[in-house]
Amino acid sequence: MTDKLAILLKSGRNTVFFGGAGVSTESGIPDFRLETGLYNARRIYGYPPEQLISHSLFKQNPSLFFRYYKENLVAKDAKPNAAHMALAQLEDRGLLQMVITQNIDGLHQAAGSHNVLELHGSNWRQYCVDCDKKYDLEYILNEGNCKDGVIPVCAVCSGIVRPDVVLYEEGLDDAVVSAAIDAIASADLLIVGGTSLVVYPAAGFLRYFNGNNLVLINKSETSADKSAQLIIRESIGKVMEEVITKI
Ligand code: ZN
Repeated sequence: MTDKLAILLKSGRNTVFFGGAGVSTESGIPDFRLETGLYNARRIYGYPPEQLISHSLFKQNPSLFFRYYKENLVAKDAKPNAAHMALAQLEDRGLLQMVITQNIDGLHQAAGSHNVLELHGSNWRQYCVDCDKKYDLEYILNEGNCKDGVIPVCAVCSGIVRPDVVLYEEGLDDAVVSAAIDAIASADLLIVGGTSLVVYPAAGFLRYFNGNNLVLINKSETSADKSAQLIIRESIGKVMEEVITKI
């Protein structure tokens, strides 16, 4: 399986990688949409994740929003895994043109990738909702910068500082979406990894792909299995680590 993927990568003229939560779970970042995450969210915070990280909860109960966000969605010490490292190497060798990710952990950049489109934003960028001053992750994690030790407050105008991530009920960034669509539409090889393609907006993006080879790397079935030229049911880290040795 990885032999065929290696051949496709070597012959690809424009290769795009589209990754989901599965790419990050191998770095120890749990997917909050999975059963344990759902269960814990209800038990500890009283709501399911899609409500806890919704725009309305952020407005109505910022204290609960930030408690959940900081305790569950910020994995400051997570390290890139074999998949992130291999993708960065492929970019370096000119064999990968773009990474499109649904993750907000910044691990592709930490691994050394430069061409990364973050559909859902990034934990590493924070901004004041009133004056738009930019802050880093450290700032909001420092209790001294937070009201009641929880809600980050702007040092300039006392507005709330929030993560530059797309919350439920919020739209994706138009510029990032068009760049992602352009990248997929012009790719001749599209590798989709670590996603079963059920979470919005992943599935929708694939219909822009016009290229010759679609590769799916995911442990379980995906909604695009029928259109794929190659399906690998394996851990994304294991596959990418192996394939890089064959190129
Ligand atoms: Zn401000």
